[in-house]
Amino acid sequence: MNLIEVMERFPDQESCIEHLERIRWGNKPVCPHCGCVEVKQKNEEGIGRVGRYNCTACKASFKVTQGTMFHGTKIPLQKWFLAISLILNAKKSLSSCQLARDLDLNQKTAWYMQARIRAEMANKTNPIVLQGIIEADETYIGGKPRKENKKEDREPAKRGRGTSKTAVIGAVERGGQVVAEVAKGLTGRDIMQFIQRVVNVKESELMTDEYHAYNALSSQLKHHVINHQEQYVDGDKHTNTIEGFWSLLKRAWYGQHHHYSVAYTPLYVAERCYVYNNRNLETIFWKFLKESMKV
Ligand SMILES: [Zn+2]
Repeated sequence: MNLIEVMERFPDQESCIEHLERIRWGNKPVCPHCGCVEVKQKNEEGIGRVGRYNCTACKASFKVTQGTMFHGTKIPLQKWFLAISLILNAKKSLSSCQLARDLDLNQKTAWYMQARIRAEMANKTNPIVLQGIIEADETYIGGKPRKENKKEDREPAKRGRGTSKTAVIGAVERGGQVVAEVAKGLTGRDIMQFIQRVVNVKESELMTDEYHAYNALSSQLKHHVINHQEQYVDGDKHTNTIEGFWSLLKRAWYGQHHHYSVAYTPLYVAERCYVYNNRNLETIFWKFLKESMKV
């Protein structure tokens, strides 16, 4: 869905509500408080009032957005839908300033919407298990940009770096999905636990660079080490896929997100994984909305 398609399909608040009601309830609204289906629609004007119901059993009033990412929002749903479309289509992520300009919002509102959409992406992603040829690697984001793939990027404590950078660990299945997350640490044990959780080790081959913390993995699965001091690609022995993902992640971060705190990094990483993992799915907009209505 591009912006034009969203505008045409959802010209107003009513059409957005109608769609959300259909995916949440089908034809019959259900009271989210007590589960009763004996509900009455209230006919009231105004963005916040359209689509409100009263439950005849528990007397509560509710809307289709109750308990969802849209709960309590004063922003027209069409702007939410447009924001979702923009974020899903943004190859290199989107700053809240850009989103604010595109949707005629103030930057704080755009930032808040983006944070909610990202949290939704993080929450609604089922655990992924990768299988096949897997490339694993780690990187740092946040703080000032620096050259990638340098050894000194890896041991922040020893180098006396501040806490402005966040370690991110990731694994990607070639031709498949990526799992990346803020790492608790980058010891051999941390990395082992991560790989065991996200990779089917019995059915996979692992490619990493020569970082020593990966050594222990050789006892768990077939493991190829690419020594970047010597060469980057040896036939199919390389880590170019995960490095490509890092470069997308970092380029967007340094281009547009440098003023955000490190606390925001996990949500940012979750968004980039979500977009990457659904990159070939044309129905991603509809899938995302549907997931957002699962409470
Ligand atoms: Zn009720």
